[in-house]
Amino acid sequence: MDFTLTERQLELQKLAHDYAKNELKPYVRERERITDPAERFPWDILETGSRLGLRTLSIPEEIGGGGADILTLCIVGEEIGWGDLGVAVTFDQTWKIIHFLDIVWNEAQRAKFLPAFLEDHHFHLAVGMTEPEVGSENFIPEEGPELGVRTSAVRDGEDWIINGKKHYISNGGIAKLYVLVCRTDPTVGVSQGVTYFMVTPDMEGFSIGKIHEKMGQQLSQNAELIFENCRVPDDYRVTAVGGGVAARSGPFSRGSVIESAATNLGPARAAYEDALEFAKTRIQGGKPIIEHQGVGFMLADCFVEYEASRQMLHYAAWRAMRDNYDPKLGYMAKAYTSEAGFRIATRALEVWGGTGYMTEAPMEKYLRDVISFLHSAGTNQAQRIRAMKYL
Ligand SMILES: Cc1cc2nc3c(=O)[nH]c(=O)nc-3n(C[C@H](O)[C@H](O)[C@H](O)COP(=O)(O)OP(=O)(O)OC[C@H]3O[C@@H](n4cnc5c(N)ncnc54)[C@H](O)[C@@H]3O)c2cc1C
Repeated sequence: MDFTLTERQLELQKLAHDYAKNELKPYVRERERITDPAERFPWDILETGSRLGLRTLSIPEEIGGGGADILTLCIVGEEIGWGDLGVAVTFDQTWKIIHFLDIVWNEAQRAKFLPAFLEDHHFHLAVGMTEPEVGSENFIPEEGPELGVRTSAVRDGEDWIINGKKHYISNGGIAKLYVLVCRTDPTVGVSQGVTYFMVTPDMEGFSIGKIHEKMGQQLSQNAELIFENCRVPDDYRVTAVGGGVAARSGPFSRGSVIESAATNLGPARAAYEDALEFAKTRIQGGKPIIEHQGVGFMLADCFVEYEASRQMLHYAAWRAMRDNYDPKLGYMAKAYTSEAGFRIATRALEVWGGTGYMTEAPMEKYLRDVISFLHSAGTNQAQRIRAMKYL
């Protein structure tokens, strides 16, 4: 076995690390304190990243992207997340959704949307699945017409009429293209009854509702998407009618949960690194606190849980790029690493003592950020239920 990263992976890791160090770390804490979401949203920071090639990383080089595979996206996502989790999530959403579209687009759809996506440094994407009445049901779909997706799409000639509401949607209100799951047959379960569409912000009947205020990931934006008799041409349908679940459960879905979880390694590692530095310089009892075993043990546990998390995710990514993939590797890696990240950030905050609780210290931000992944990208209960099937 060889754990050496390729030259391209090392190059992208350095590029993302330098971006995080120079463009994110010095600015993000101040930026988070801006109360108006429109002013707070870091368009300038994202544009700098896009000009470095980060936004288009997940699609093949032949069509103008960066050609990064699942493992490479994990490596890059972690580095951006080390600088700021919200910024990493904004990029990661775009990576996943454009990758999905690249698989399902027909030639006319590709010709219509790909050039604009490649050229426009502000072109991000969003996916609308969660609804006020439908959360984990999207991840552990039970069969039955009364369960799962409620937002409806009803055929009307060459168009579809969409009604319903999605909420908590990452990149909501800033995306230029949305992928939306809708119920196209209310008489059957989701495995036969849902379909994916694309919608654009200018479509009549589509509006952005509330911008959600969150405890962490404050530089990513989450919003409600509201559809009131929104007319969408059939040309904007991206899966077979009733074939939504099948299209999203193909090989594409393998990377999705692993890449998301990898962004969360970033703040966990940053918390550990900052705790280590603090413990070397803070003197109590006549010596640096790292020399007190009680503190040293906390740091050793942070180190081992970070290393275990990164290796588990990288192994899941490596397996996801090969045949005979076992889906429980990704589901359980997401659950384990998000819980480990929470423990790491909590211990790191404790190493900083009372200072760690103060908002001038970086620790409270790390903790607020890592908590999001206990439920974002599917709750950990949902991940365990998905994994159970493969035990
Ligand atoms: C930061 C953030 C970003 C997000 N971005 C997006 C996005 O871009 N697009 C999108 O569509 N959604 C997004 N979401 C929504 C997210 O996917 C949902 O919040 C998540 O799937 C859980 O759904 P819920 O909030 O309705 O909780 P619920 O499903 O109501 O769950 C509540 C509790 O019940 C448990 N539970 C539910 N059902 C079961 C079951 N069958 N067995 C055992 N336990 C169960 C859950 O694990 C949880 O503990 C985002 C959420 C967050 C926090």
